[in-house]
Amino acid sequence: MSASSDQAVGVGADEPIGRFRFMDAQRVNLDGFATENGDLGLIAFDGPADPAPSLVIQDGVIVELDGRRIEQFDLIDAFIASHGIDQQVAPEAMALGETEYARMLVDPAIPREIVVRLAAGMTPAKLARCLALLRPAELVIAMTKCRARRTPSNQAHVTNRSDDPLLLAADAATAAAFGFREIETTVPVLGDAPSNAIAVSIGAAVGSPGVLVQCSVEEALELEMGMRGLVSYAETVSLYGTEQIFIDGDDTPWSKAFLTSAYASRGIKMRVTSGGGAEALMGGAERCSMFYLEARCVALARAVGAQGVQNGGIDSASVAGSVPGGVRSMMAENLMVMLRNLEACTGNDALMSESEVRRTSRTHPIFIAGTDFICSGFGSIQRYDNMFGPSQWNAEDIDDYLCMQRDWGIDGGLRTADATSVAQLRKRAVAAVRDVYSILGLGDFSEEWQAQAVDAAGSKDVPAADLMLPLSASRVIRDSGLTMLDVVRALDEAGYESEADRLLAMLRARVSGDYLHTAAIFTEDMQVLSLITDPNDYTGPGTGYYPTAQRQQQIDQIRQARSVTDFADEQLKFAQVCGSALHEDGPADRSDDPRDVVIGVSPATARAIWRTLCGLTVDEALDELIAGLTEEGCTARIVRFHNTVDLGLIGLQAARMAGSGIGIGLQAKGTALIHRRDLTPLANLELYSVAPSLDRMAYRQLGLNAGRHAKGATPEPQRNPYSDEAIEARYHTTVVALVAIERQYCDANRPPVTLRLARP
Ligand code: CA
Repeated sequence: MSASSDQAVGVGADEPIGRFRFMDAQRVNLDGFATENGDLGLIAFDGPADPAPSLVIQDGVIVELDGRRIEQFDLIDAFIASHGIDQQVAPEAMALGETEYARMLVDPAIPREIVVRLAAGMTPAKLARCLALLRPAELVIAMTKCRARRTPSNQAHVTNRSDDPLLLAADAATAAAFGFREIETTVPVLGDAPSNAIAVSIGAAVGSPGVLVQCSVEEALELEMGMRGLVSYAETVSLYGTEQIFIDGDDTPWSKAFLTSAYASRGIKMRVTSGGGAEALMGGAERCSMFYLEARCVALARAVGAQGVQNGGIDSASVAGSVPGGVRSMMAENLMVMLRNLEACTGNDALMSESEVRRTSRTHPIFIAGTDFICSGFGSIQRYDNMFGPSQWNAEDIDDYLCMQRDWGIDGGLRTADATSVAQLRKRAVAAVRDVYSILGLGDFSEEWQAQAVDAAGSKDVPAADLMLPLSASRVIRDSGLTMLDVVRALDEAGYESEADRLLAMLRARVSGDYLHTAAIFTEDMQVLSLITDPNDYTGPGTGYYPTAQRQQQIDQIRQARSVTDFADEQLKFAQVCGSALHEDGPADRSDDPRDVVIGVSPATARAIWRTLCGLTVDEALDELIAGLTEEGCTARIVRFHNTVDLGLIGLQAARMAGSGIGIGLQAKGTALIHRRDLTPLANLELYSVAPSLDRMAYRQLGLNAGRHAKGATPEPQRNPYSDEAIEARYHTTVVALVAIERQYCDANRPPVTLRLARP
């Protein structure tokens, strides 16, 4: 191509063509994408240094693990070899073909316990190779079968930028109202942690009994708060897949095992955190794939005695998401946790992408499979208040998520909450924190602050908050040795008996210990659902978890849903407010006047429907049509047809009645067309099919054009206005309802009548 022809089509040397400038500006291109690089660990599966699986046992001692002899073991190998492999099962499990085991995972007839038993005898490399064989749809099936608990659940983040105790409590109560069974908080300022733990615990107890609460901070402080009863679970003890990264963090598998036991000894539920990409992010992947290193972490989690794992990328989700197959590997990580017979908190917490499409795509297979906790941190607060960083799902998305549950009829752990009851809960949570802080001498809150916290959608709405209060409250809590029993007492004293009972019940649960079972959550009547009491028994269609009828109703009923009756009532109310000047004026006849144009309207017009979809009244739309016709020197007649709801037929009948042979068809919902008497019903002259985006000017133009047609001219046809909105998605339920109403008023035997706009 010559330079001159390049110029002719407007292609510059430096700037891409318009199509690519347009594509570059889309949100997905804010994300980072890495070229696969095995040497840096930027590879999902099959890293250059991933070992072939192997296991050699001599006299009850593992002397070779995944290609390494005992003399070469690093800390992780040594710990897994001593505590992480079931030697009874190992010979059978290691001899099993990888494809054979992968097929067992997706065969619904083979129950969970069989595949879980075999996994216990597999080395990290073996299990990683088996799971790498699964395609995405197979991961969904395997996950449906292999999660520990039958009933799925979800976990929320409740944090804010100010560590405002009132807002934390109000938001924790809100999260509980939306159905979250675990709430995780953290701090932007470490010193605020004890105040946050108490505020969230009180708020959660206002929202629902049995909500588990944790405050994720530095490990010693978190354990201290746990021992004082200020939190009821822990989740953020981190594991890594290479020795170097462990040592960088001043830790070993033994120190993590000790910490795990410390929690268990106080009856506190405890999970560890890992996730593919962390080692690559910290420059210590040792040329191994993300998935293999995560296989080591998960084996270690089992070996240190944790009850579960939150993984699936977590903090490094965007690293895993930046390489080919990374999203699939994150889901396979979660499945691996299930196969190690641990509770799976399946990631979907750190925001992986700025693209709504990519982040939905990343979560969706896990969402439809169902897991112990679908998000290990759904940001139930706004993105800007999430002190973990924005989550994959945030307050911005709660309605989307509820709609997705309803769309698929599945239990994603959430439920609709209505504005009135959430307002009451927020008021009570704020008042409870105010009273407890006052009784315990932790601080006082102004009236203005309280009112703002109740109403706030986020911390930006609470300018009255005193940012020093959480710090001084926390100092008092730590110095005085205050425990959750003191909080319970204060609640009781201030008259919050049910909240006091709920928090006391959480302390009691630690002594009975049932929630130390794998994958334990509490129902709202304090029953423990776990691997023991609610085991996943999926073996194909008709088995496993189905929501109860009551739960299904929660899933199906979102507050936005409306019925035909709702729409009919709305129209009636509208008419009562706005009125209508349309009156029946006797039977309608043919005319011979060549300037006569008939506007045919639908059966329910001014009987049950008075407002069009664009918000104009039917009167207003008619005014404009008539004005346009008049401007062209035509006379307009309004005739209501009762024999059909079909707009083409209404327009054609109008045209046949008109002296000019031109008719306008107008449905009460606003759809309009121009027809001519010699055409077939479907072959109209001009059509406005997108009624919601019309306005006065559009109807005026249609009137003008109808007048021009009546005079035998050929005007430039009117077109639907530009729009890239989901007009149909927004209006289709309304359309269905309005058409149903039209049909109710349809009567084949009733002749057409003339209508008149009779204004006083
Ligand atoms: Ca979490």
